Amino acid sequence: MSDTKLEDIVSLCKRRGFIFPGSDIYGGLSGTWDYGPLGVQLKKNIMNLWWKMFVDDAEDMLCVDAAILMNQKVWHASGHVDTFTDPLVECSNCHARHRADKLDDPNKCPSCNKTDTFGEARHFNMMFKTNVGPVDDEASISYLRPETAQGIFTNYKNIVDSSYPDVPFGIAQQGKAFRNEISPRDFIFRSREFEQMEIEYFVHPDQWATSFELWIERIHSWCDALGLPSDSVHELEVAETDRAHYSKRTVDFEFDFPIGREELLGLAYRTDFDLQNIQRVSGKNMEYRPKDGSAPFVPHVIEPSFGVERALMAVLTSAYHEDEQNGEKRIYLALPTHLAPIKVAVLPLAKNKPELVAKAREVYAMLKAEISNVMWVDTGNIGKNYRKMDEIGVPYCVTVDFDTLEGETVDTVTVRHRDTTEQKRVGISDLTNIFVK
Ligand code: ATP
Repeated sequence: MSDTKLEDIVSLCKRRGFIFPGSDIYGGLSGTWDYGPLGVQLKKNIMNLWWKMFVDDAEDMLCVDAAILMNQKVWHASGHVDTFTDPLVECSNCHARHRADKLDDPNKCPSCNKTDTFGEARHFNMMFKTNVGPVDDEASISYLRPETAQGIFTNYKNIVDSSYPDVPFGIAQQGKAFRNEISPRDFIFRSREFEQMEIEYFVHPDQWATSFELWIERIHSWCDALGLPSDSVHELEVAETDRAHYSKRTVDFEFDFPIGREELLGLAYRTDFDLQNIQRVSGKNMEYRPKDGSAPFVPHVIEPSFGVERALMAVLTSAYHEDEQNGEKRIYLALPTHLAPIKVAVLPLAKNKPELVAKAREVYAMLKAEISNVMWVDTGNIGKNYRKMDEIGVPYCVTVDFDTLEGETVDTVTVRHRDTTEQKRVGISDLTNIFVK
């Protein structure tokens, strides 16, 4: 388990505008979270990093952006209507409902602490049901997708017909997923609305084991790119009885979260389960015809499935630090620079000195043109501003002071590093070299 406390992360996220409880002003809506200015940016940086690594920089990857609402046949064919369930128990004393497989003590209700109040667990389907169109009948039923994967499978044929990639190839998608979790909890870790980044990697059936190993390596590279300490990431070979209905092999990648060692992301060998189901239900041929004229086959699938919220929570857990500076407790987020929502802050030392503010504005404009995510900070005292920038994970603060304006130090500024708090005098013309690596 991480030494960082979950409540410290939750409190920093709200205080500084990363993440707020969903519908906060009306008392919230359980399992939903809203992203504030810094949270949106941090989340986007994580999602863009993933896109760059697995789509833009890859040679074997295509992408898709499917609609969230899909024909109900998708969820019948995939097995979700019948089997996407969690075991639910209800307490006969306080009537609280809990997910049976996540109870610390299977006989004790965590809401009222009474024992032996649960009856038989029943299967609770986690899909949110809705109706498409003005008629509320069986035919109009649709679901908010509980995973992005099916949007990839349902477009497999369109993509093969239009792009004709060589096997192996992957199709990547990012987007919202919805699960009516029985007990959403642990901040964004278990939400009812969340975001996934999924890849279906289509391989020849003989090649699945090799591709699976390749994806284990790629996932470790992803965790490194997020700045997660490698000794906090663990592989768990999931036993057959615990695997999803479609999987022949699953490795969960777990992380030492503040709530304990829990699933960060999953890697599953889905065989040809989905394409065969689509072929059966749609009546359309899902075979891939190799360009060399060899025998057609229905590809098998390796699926790395990444949750954005869990990646974000792992990043925050790894980045959260407390130390002591000048006898005072300091909190700072040691975010990797490429993930930090704000890369540099520019601070004029005095607000009431026009030449100094003008010079600071010049520095700000120059950095903004190069780096974009630069913040202008001219309220409050310098010490407080440094603390604030530390808390939101700004790697560098640039202070324009009186020495910037004259004497031997003219056109130099102070650059302060977040993690060490060390300050260096640097020429303005050298700044972009320092920040743009
Ligand atoms: P768990 O066992 O924790 O419920 P799962 O095995 O059902 O998760 P998958 O169906 O494998 O999860 O989903 C793939 C990924 O999507 C997970 O590894 C996780 O990162 C993310 N994810 C799944 N459910 C949620 C949720 N309720 N809130 C946030 N992220 C989620």
